[in-house]
Amino acid sequence: MRLSRQFTVFGSALFFVVIISLYLMLDHLQLDHTKNPSSGMDRLQTGQLSVLQDKIDRLERLLAENNEIITNIRDSVINLRESVKDGRRAGETGNFSQGPVELLPSPPLVIPIDSEDCQFSTRPYSKTADGQQMLDVNDLLAFDNPDGGVWKQGFEITYDEHEWDTEPLQVFVVPHSHNDPGWLKTFDDYFRDQTQHILNNMVVKLHEDRRRKIIWSEISYFSKWWDNIDDQKRDAVKKLIERGQLEMATGGWVMPDEANTHYFALIDQLLEGHQWLERHLGVKPKTGWAVDPFGHSPTQAYLLKQAGFSNMLIQRVHYSVKKHFAAQKSLEFFWRQNWDHDASTDILCHMMPFYSYDVPHTCGPDPKVCCQFDFKRLPGGRVSCPWRVPPQAITDNNVQDRARMLLDQYRKKSKLFRSKVVLVPLGDDFRYTEALEWDQQFQNYQKLFDYMNSHPELHVKAQFGTISDYFDALRKATGDGIGSPSLPVVSGDFFTYADRDDHYWSGYYTSRPFYKRLDRILESHLRAAEILYSLALANMRKVGKSNNFPATECYKLLTGARRNLALFQHHDAITGTGKDWVVVDYGTRLFHSILNLKRVIVNSAHWLALKDKQMFNHDASNLFLQMDDVQPAQDAQPRKTVLKIGLNPRSLVIYNPADQARSSVVTVYVNTPHVRVLNTYGQLVRVQVSAVWEDTTQVSKEAYQLSFVAQVPALGLSVYQLSEGAELQTELSQYVVLQQGNELSIKGAEDFHVAKSQVETEPIIIENAHLQLKISPSTGLLERLRLKEDGVEQQIKVEFVWYGTTSKKDKSGAYLFLPGGEATPFSSSRPPVIRVTKGSVFSEVTTTLSHITHTVRLYHIQGVEGQVAEICNSVDIRGEFNREIAMRITSDLNSKDRFFTDLNGFQIQPRRTMAKLPLQANFYPMSSMAYLQDPSFRLSLLSAQSLGASSLRSGQLEVILDRRLNQDDNRGLGQGVLDNKVTANAFRLLLEKTSSTEEPQAEASTPYSFPSLLSHMLYMHLNHPLIPMATGLDTAEVPLSPYAPLESSLPCDVHLVNLRTIQSKDEGGGPSEEAALILHRKGFDCHFSSRNTGLLCSTTRGKLSVDKLFGGLSVRKLTPASLSLLHSQENGQSSSQISLKPMEISTYRLELS
Ligand SMILES: [Zn+2]
Repeated sequence: MRLSRQFTVFGSALFFVVIISLYLMLDHLQLDHTKNPSSGMDRLQTGQLSVLQDKIDRLERLLAENNEIITNIRDSVINLRESVKDGRRAGETGNFSQGPVELLPSPPLVIPIDSEDCQFSTRPYSKTADGQQMLDVNDLLAFDNPDGGVWKQGFEITYDEHEWDTEPLQVFVVPHSHNDPGWLKTFDDYFRDQTQHILNNMVVKLHEDRRRKIIWSEISYFSKWWDNIDDQKRDAVKKLIERGQLEMATGGWVMPDEANTHYFALIDQLLEGHQWLERHLGVKPKTGWAVDPFGHSPTQAYLLKQAGFSNMLIQRVHYSVKKHFAAQKSLEFFWRQNWDHDASTDILCHMMPFYSYDVPHTCGPDPKVCCQFDFKRLPGGRVSCPWRVPPQAITDNNVQDRARMLLDQYRKKSKLFRSKVVLVPLGDDFRYTEALEWDQQFQNYQKLFDYMNSHPELHVKAQFGTISDYFDALRKATGDGIGSPSLPVVSGDFFTYADRDDHYWSGYYTSRPFYKRLDRILESHLRAAEILYSLALANMRKVGKSNNFPATECYKLLTGARRNLALFQHHDAITGTGKDWVVVDYGTRLFHSILNLKRVIVNSAHWLALKDKQMFNHDASNLFLQMDDVQPAQDAQPRKTVLKIGLNPRSLVIYNPADQARSSVVTVYVNTPHVRVLNTYGQLVRVQVSAVWEDTTQVSKEAYQLSFVAQVPALGLSVYQLSEGAELQTELSQYVVLQQGNELSIKGAEDFHVAKSQVETEPIIIENAHLQLKISPSTGLLERLRLKEDGVEQQIKVEFVWYGTTSKKDKSGAYLFLPGGEATPFSSSRPPVIRVTKGSVFSEVTTTLSHITHTVRLYHIQGVEGQVAEICNSVDIRGEFNREIAMRITSDLNSKDRFFTDLNGFQIQPRRTMAKLPLQANFYPMSSMAYLQDPSFRLSLLSAQSLGASSLRSGQLEVILDRRLNQDDNRGLGQGVLDNKVTANAFRLLLEKTSSTEEPQAEASTPYSFPSLLSHMLYMHLNHPLIPMATGLDTAEVPLSPYAPLESSLPCDVHLVNLRTIQSKDEGGGPSEEAALILHRKGFDCHFSSRNTGLLCSTTRGKLSVDKLFGGLSVRKLTPASLSLLHSQENGQSSSQISLKPMEISTYRLELS
């Protein structure tokens, strides 16, 4: 307490010193001014008056800015007070008393990071005894492709007849039907044509014989079917589950893609499925089943573990890796996170050994044999065996031969594993649609099992099982995997997938990038809406009224959006590997959900921002607040709406969905350049007015861009007033437009100052307090960057390149990237038009090339966004033939063959560019960021959308922006990718200097790496922009006030993943009083300069006290739960204290009022 008082007193004293010195400074300037010759008393008086007016305006602005600084100081004091209470050692606190000095505009600011919080990222890596690290495996493997015989990508398997004499072979044949929620048909069409019949037949056919079993994974389909069946059928399903004949495997909404997905959406789809299962069936899945996602991420393993799962299965892994794991008998392992030091993330994982999950590749190594045991392919049917030996129906005459033939495959498969339990999946895409197929498979297999089981000399017990039946038996046989035989530990990921030859599935990291961006837009809207809605409901419980707030209607909109986002995480949706019309179906769902979520956000913000809640009145046809942008169609770019500004102030409510208070630039379109912007305290805010461009040199007369720095509390609302000023009180942007060194004239720019051109050979320079960017006057692209703190100029060169596809038979398509060779430089078919904008809030250079409009921007603010260059590309490659366009960044960094890409926005996976592999194999998913580093610097590219990225040379980072491919790549889609759209993608480019002498994780073998806190924060801001909402013109009378739900910002390393209102148990599907509070404590690297970063938060060793967190609300209940709420510690103590380990994601059931 003593410390915080000191802190406040010091801060306030400083504030006054600054104000007084600024006043004196102004006065001094004023003196200079009056020395200028002027004649006549009147003119002098008028001059003095206007000078006085000007001085008052500037003071007002300074007061506003200082008010923001004081707010920041207050936040920091609160943070600090909490840390002090937590018992921080006295020695460390000494550093922080310097804090307030650093908060002022120019001096460097060191953010308070507990040194203990830095230890996590620097702990040395130690490998476990029987452990495999995928980075090492990739180093070790030759990635050759020799012919392995019947098992083409493997090796010959032999066994001794007597191996099972003492311990018989246990065979679990697991029937499954893989139902894609959209691919060649839309979700609804598949349901109508196939899925509903599968499920209807399931009820009948499983009841015919209790020994029959099946597993199901896609709850999107199951719930749709459930809604359409009667109670009798529902009871029959419940019976099947009770008897263990039907198991829900994973139980997510879909079987998600693991490359392009963000962990927010992975959790959303899991929660949505699990909540449905719990509500309707009382089922708690414990085993994961992922046979089709194109490569596998440890993030999914972590999430399943946090959801309380014990086991999981994966299938699509590079054939060389499978072969290696098979040879080591390591196909079953404990998957451990790279950064896990105490084995707490281990989950038992089964990797399927062969090429596919279809029947020919699951019974054993020989597909020609296994295909004969897919009884759907019996002669006369619609499908047959490509190996030209058809199945035979099992009869008394052939059962002996057929059983022995199948057992031989089972035994061989078993030789690849450490236990004597063998798993044999039995199914394929959309299997078991017809009653006949159920009979064919189940009857014939039962005959085979009966034969095997009745011949003790075969030493086998074969049966139908569910996936958990298999894992239970495996755990029994291996003493939970740690007995004898024990199972190894594996860490790392399984990208990039190749199923044969050089067919690497790195194309889908970028395919249909328009929708990969739309996915993130929906995601950030969903999170923003969930949190604000939950806070609004809690506020209503507190104040005891809700007027006509549309709580149930909003909840339905939220549920719809959750499900549409969840559906899009499917491995043929976000991947961009569906048919054109299926893509349109997904796009329409995303688009409508975004519109609906805007209603939820606007309604919640309306409630929370109202000073007098009595005045709340919901009018569905005329909402109180309007979002400032409109997306006209599912495949179009959003457009800003032009706000009409009049003499009466119009309110702009700004919502900050980030975890920390923030100063970020907000841009809205207005109808006049004469705008006054006042903040909550009625103070004038500095504004930059820029042109709205109709084309490269034509300025709009109807609209102006209004940009200002908004200060908004964490998860809260600020209110700004916009009104028309009689005279120009804003600062106008300055422009110059160049082409081939010549200045182009700008049409309609009378309002704006057009700057005189520079010397044509000199680089174009834009700079702020932290960065200076040099841009080539001929290409209009970034060439050099200087960190002002460091003073050294670096080469950071941006260019665009083209990839074509190979001239060989197999070419690039939706899944595969098969380039014809290295990329060739992109050259614009017309000379670039370069538009330089300079202003007080931001400066930017926009370069228009054929196919690309590229913008690089700097913000003139003290917040974190002043630290980074913003890059936006609008790409249009329609009309091209078999081409992919990439942005390449070449730097001086000596990164050698190492680079880093994230996995699902959750963790960083170190990569090594491997010369032994083809170019396309060195591309990896970049769902949130990629970086390069050397001992002195780290260069990060933060991405607002998932795309494929690589570093093909030392110092180089490249990212594919769009791909247009004229042919199918033979993975079943049956078409190319020709539905390209004008696609906007956004990035932040961050150069960070290492502050210590050692390189972050200097050892090349260290399998983990972490972004800095600044990088985390910038990504948060990129992914979750401020949301401006305007009131109507006629609502000036309604008083609004800012809203700050949190006592202070969350610690720098804690992210509120979601605050998601749980559905009520009552009929009607409205909200309950409980919400799922999902928190993630991020891992971060402290090696980078933390001076002057603009961060205004501290770290607290993962400790959080929830009752103090939510300012005006009290915590009625806080119960720890598993990630998807299936397992709650209901009788555990309800404490308001939360403690998170680094990297941990935890869920709590929370009741606020
Ligand atoms: Zn699939």
